[in-house]
Amino acid sequence: MKALDELTFDNRFARLGDAFSTHVLPEPLDEPRLVVASDAAMALLDLDPAVAETPVFAELFGGHKLWAEAEPRAMVYSGHQFGGYTPQLGDGRGLLLGEVYNEAGEHWDLHLKGAGMTPYSRMGDGRAVLRSSIREFLASEALHALGIPSSRALCVIGSSTPVWREKQERGAMVLRLAPSHIRFGHFEYFYYTKKPEQQALLAEHVLNLHYPECREQPEPYLAMFREIVERNAEMIAKWQAYGFCHGVMNTDNMSILGITFDFGPFAFLDDFDAHFICNHSDHEGRYSFSNQVPIGQWNLSALAQALTPFISVDALKEALGLYLPLYQAHYLDLMRRRLGLTTAEDEDQKLVEQLLKLMQNSGVDYTLFFRRLGDESAALAVARLRDDFVDLAGFDAWAEQYKSRVSRDGEYSEEQRRERMHAVNPLYILRNYQAQNAIAAAESGDYSEVRRLHEVLSKPFEEQPGMEQYAQRPPDWGKHLEISCSS
Ligand code: AMP
Ligand code: MG
Repeated sequence: MKALDELTFDNRFARLGDAFSTHVLPEPLDEPRLVVASDAAMALLDLDPAVAETPVFAELFGGHKLWAEAEPRAMVYSGHQFGGYTPQLGDGRGLLLGEVYNEAGEHWDLHLKGAGMTPYSRMGDGRAVLRSSIREFLASEALHALGIPSSRALCVIGSSTPVWREKQERGAMVLRLAPSHIRFGHFEYFYYTKKPEQQALLAEHVLNLHYPECREQPEPYLAMFREIVERNAEMIAKWQAYGFCHGVMNTDNMSILGITFDFGPFAFLDDFDAHFICNHSDHEGRYSFSNQVPIGQWNLSALAQALTPFISVDALKEALGLYLPLYQAHYLDLMRRRLGLTTAEDEDQKLVEQLLKLMQNSGVDYTLFFRRLGDESAALAVARLRDDFVDLAGFDAWAEQYKSRVSRDGEYSEEQRRERMHAVNPLYILRNYQAQNAIAAAESGDYSEVRRLHEVLSKPFEEQPGMEQYAQRPPDWGKHLEISCSS
């Protein structure tokens, strides 16, 4: 266990130089205070969780203090936003404070979001509000607990600093952790600004530090791109299988590591709805729930374009062709497990599609359906779940198919079935209305609800006594919350 002043820094991105990032100091928040910290994220840095409660912790992550070895930098990147290219973006309100090694030799970027203005702030104020910082914190840690690759969050620091959005709010900072904060948009920036030398440096950097095994391949850059395609296919398969809607899949929000990144107006589905749009500025539904799959490929194509100086177009196209089959394989594998199946049959895809259609038509809660399906034998479970459906004949037909599919799957006890299914079907997901309750309490100075919700979501598959209210469908007021994009 380390104290806060014992972190070991090695700022590799900062050493790439001024073409890649700009030195900027954090702008302190007034009266910084701890809102919530993640013990699990603290452990990634070998930090004793008790240090989160010390005043110096809030000072460090509220922008007042800095380690002597930290080299805070705002990174430059660009990206395709809603399909159109924006030539220059960058860390407009976030700073890469430095890069830290833990005792296991793992490397973590410390990235402070809401740290004030930078050369890339454009029209923004460089700030993040408490509401959006809490949402990013809860989502990163909840996704990780579900087994979905994601950036992590160490803490949220609140303050009395006024920040204007649609109304006056309070400024906050969230300390984000990831092995790298390099985005697709980093590569696009150097490609479109025609800076081949810097682009080559960036590619070498990513290859050496994050894809070293690709060095062994005959074409290392191609191997790296293939790996990025594979990781994205797997990540998006997990989003779809668990009902996560990212909301702003611009290429500047896509991590080069294939982890969920840059949380804005995201949402988990309550009722299953393939057409769900969580971002209220997304009028055309470009980033709707079901569109996430083709958009994943679109984004990878945008990255491929930026990699044409290193890889032949034919090879890039071939690698892009891996995306959909890989996505489908991962998705189907996970959905089979969610249905309690241990073997694969060709008809399984249809079984899943039919179920989703029935759920869509009846507005069935996506998370609770699968959890309850595993509570007892297939026959008992479908008999009990039947009441949730409007199209009873449709559901009965599906249920017959499902029961016979389960009987072909093998012999196992009800207990084995429950254990196996509950291990992949969460009881608790981050529901917007619950985040909203926690935020409302935090805005009036009570952080206990954020902390409790974080705690519950850190063990989403485990039934936690006394926490039944976190496994409920939303009340009417919580069903169609409009989450503001001005975060
Ligand atoms: P996002 O939609 O959050 O991914 O942000 C898109 C771009 O706008 C990024 O370059 C952000 O750094 C920048 N940005 C977002 N909010 C702010 C803000 N309040 N101040 C400065 N820059 C911001
Ligand atoms: Mg972003």
